[in-house]
Formats: sequence, structure tokens, C-alpha cells
Amino acid sequence: MTTTRFAPSPTGYLHIGNLRTALFNYMIARKAGGTFILRIDDTDAERSKPEYEEAIKEDLTWLGLTWDRLEHQSSRLARYQAAADELRAAGRLYECFETPTELDLKRKKQLNMGKPPVYDRSALALSEAEKEKLRAERGPGHWRFKLDHERIEWTDGILGPLSIDAASVSDPVLIRGDGQFLYTLASVCDDIDHGITNVVRGSDHVTNTATQIQIIRALGGSVPEFAHHSLLTGPQGEALSKRLGTLSLRDLRARGIEPMALLALMARLGSSDPVELRTSLDELIAGFDISRFGAAPTKFDEADLLPLTARYLQGLPYAAVADKVAALGVPDDLAERFWLVVRDNINVLDDMAAWWQLFRDGATPLVDDQDRDFVAEALSLLGDAPYDGDTWGAWTAAVKEKTGRKGRALFMPLRKAITGRERGPEMADVMALLQKKPTL
Ligand code: GLU
Repeated sequence: MTTTRFAPSPTGYLHIGNLRTALFNYMIARKAGGTFILRIDDTDAERSKPEYEEAIKEDLTWLGLTWDRLEHQSSRLARYQAAADELRAAGRLYECFETPTELDLKRKKQLNMGKPPVYDRSALALSEAEKEKLRAERGPGHWRFKLDHERIEWTDGILGPLSIDAASVSDPVLIRGDGQFLYTLASVCDDIDHGITNVVRGSDHVTNTATQIQIIRALGGSVPEFAHHSLLTGPQGEALSKRLGTLSLRDLRARGIEPMALLALMARLGSSDPVELRTSLDELIAGFDISRFGAAPTKFDEADLLPLTARYLQGLPYAAVADKVAALGVPDDLAERFWLVVRDNINVLDDMAAWWQLFRDGATPLVDDQDRDFVAEALSLLGDAPYDGDTWGAWTAAVKEKTGRKGRALFMPLRKAITGRERGPEMADVMALLQKKPTL
């Protein structure tokens, strides 16, 4: 059965780049009728925080990306220990004692000599006595996985056939000196035990994948299908990494971006399919095909989210927002009309409030000097609220008759006086919603 997972570390808020990973994995599982696992990668006890885990769940729930199963790496340490023992017994795990500074120096020397900065495996040559001595001096060592020096090959769901020479990659550290299991080992154990069939993640993980394929095989697991999506850049192709902090899902939510607008964009951006606004996740899933995504960096412009949000709101039926309209205090008998009028004139749902305030209390009139007398005269011809859908037509006919003004010269000053704006809903609708007679 198709099983995918989204595996964030609870060390910060989810951002737009994480969303892409979550969404792709979610859609693959749902499209196949499979299982989607939310896996919390929390082996780093110092940096992992329960409040971030809560925030991750809240953000995914807001988007409707529901998970079938929740897993925590922190509860599986015994399993990682057993896997490490197995690798050790097979001669695939070896203890190293270099300090970060020493490793750095080695890397610099290699680079100076024009060589790739690959760990030189000098720890493999240590005798038991030398290791004892180093342990006594420096404490327990860290443990590296001994790669087989072969070409590691797989067909990537997005990047196509890939091949990485294991000799060009450093033996990955799986366990730190303080005993902490690192992501590479933990993730492999989980993917095997949870029956993960498809892994989608960012292209920054391609090298990890090469080494993980060897570790999976060394542990007797079967290798899932991998797909690496390109990383997001800003609209000009600039790296987004520094700005991701301000592109957290909760920031976008606070700015009024609607989940469906975000999902519609992210489900297609970077693929050969056009972005199409849909009303449900199911429709997005039906049209999703990972093989249509390309390897090139994907340009993301957050400005695209506002018009998508506005368009989404324009298509929303009253029933979808009835609670929110009621919460503004719009009377029941006006509520549906209010929504149908206002939805074409807002960017985000919160903009509704300003319209209701305007209908309820009136606007600060916008009146040009040369129109002041005209507007005063027009208002003297208007009766008291409440009004209805015919008020505007009858009133402006009377105003035209009395003042001789017509067309834009008649309507625009009245619109500006009544709404305080130059644009907005049809004036017949505005009048029908006004709760008080406008004044100057
Ligand atoms: N916790 C890892 C990350 O956020 C998961 C990567 C993966 O999908 O394997 O980078």
C-alpha cells in the first residue's frame, strides 16, 4: 500500500518550502488511497520544542492536510540503538574521534589541493589501543557509516535517472559523540518500519538519499521511490532561504491568505500544469502528477497569493461564510445579500468588516468642493433608511430631474459621498444594505 510521510523537525514554524514537501507527500498518499504519516523528527532534544510540534499540527490542520498516523522519533531510540548494533556487527559503523576543528582543517587542505572534501577514513586505521586512548582523552567518539564505494543509482520521480559515486561522498555520521542518533539513521529505520513506499523531499536531500539507499540495504529494508523537488526561489530567482522566516504558514494565515489559494498555487507551481483555483483538495489531488514537475528552481512570488485568495472568495457561497458574517453582527435577513455584494470587493475575508462598518455606521464622505451643493441637494431628496433594491434607481431619477445632472457626473459624487470610496459594489446594492441615511 502506498505510504508517505511528512517529517518536519519541531525546531521552528512551517514555511512555504515545507508546505510543498508536505503537500506532495499528502497528495501521493491520498491519490493512491494510501496512508499519510506525520512524523516528528525530534531526536535533537535541545532544539525540538513541543510548541513547535503543536504549531506544525495547527498549520497542517488549517490547510486540511490531515494525517492518518502520528510518529515521534524520540520514542524510537531503542530501535535506532538496535539498528546501530546491527550495522556495527556487520562492520558498517566505525568510531571516529576528530574534532570539528580537525575535520575543518582536513577539508581545507583537500580543497587547497583541488580534491573533493571527503572524509579520509583515517579512523578506520586506528588500533583498539589507540581508540581507548582517544576515548580517555576526548570522550566517546562519533560513528560513521562505511559506504561501499560503488555507484549508487536510482530513478528519481522528478529528476529522472540519478547516479552518485559513493567515493565522492563522506561516510555519513549516524551517531554523535554524545550518543544522539542523527536524522540519517533515524529516518532510514522509520522509513523501513513504517513501510514508506514513496519519499518526496527537497533536492537538498539528494546526497542523503544516495547514502540512505546503502543504509536501507545494509539493514535489509526495501528502497522506497524517491522524488526530489526543486527548491523555491524568490520571483527574481534569488535564494529564499533567508526570507523563509517571514514566509511561515502562520504569517500567511495572519495576512488573510486562504488555504485553498495557497494549496492551489503550491500543488502546481513548478510543474507544466497551469495553476487552477479549485474548491477542494480532492480536485487538486485528481490533477496532481509528480512527473510533471521539473528540476529547475521554482520561482515563488507571494504576491500571487492575494489575487488567488480574492478569486477564491468571489466563488464562495454564503453558506461557507455564514458564521463569519453573523459574527460581524450582520442581521440575518441581510446576511446573504451582504456576502454576495461584498465578496467581489474584498481581497481577504477580514476586509468584510470594513464594509459592514460602512453599511452600519456610514462612511466618512468623500466630496469634492464643486460637488458639495449638488450632494447636499441630492441627499435632501432621499428619505430615511432602511432602503431596498429599488431605492437607488428611484432616488437618482429624482435627483436627475431636479438638478439636470446625469451619468458619471451624477453617480460618482454620490458614490464617493456615501461610501467614501471611488470603487465598490453596485450602488443599488449599497443602498439596500445601508442602515442609516447618509449625511455630509
Ligand atoms: N526532518 C528532515 C527534514 O526536515 C526530513 C527529511 C526527509 O524527508 O527525509 O529535513
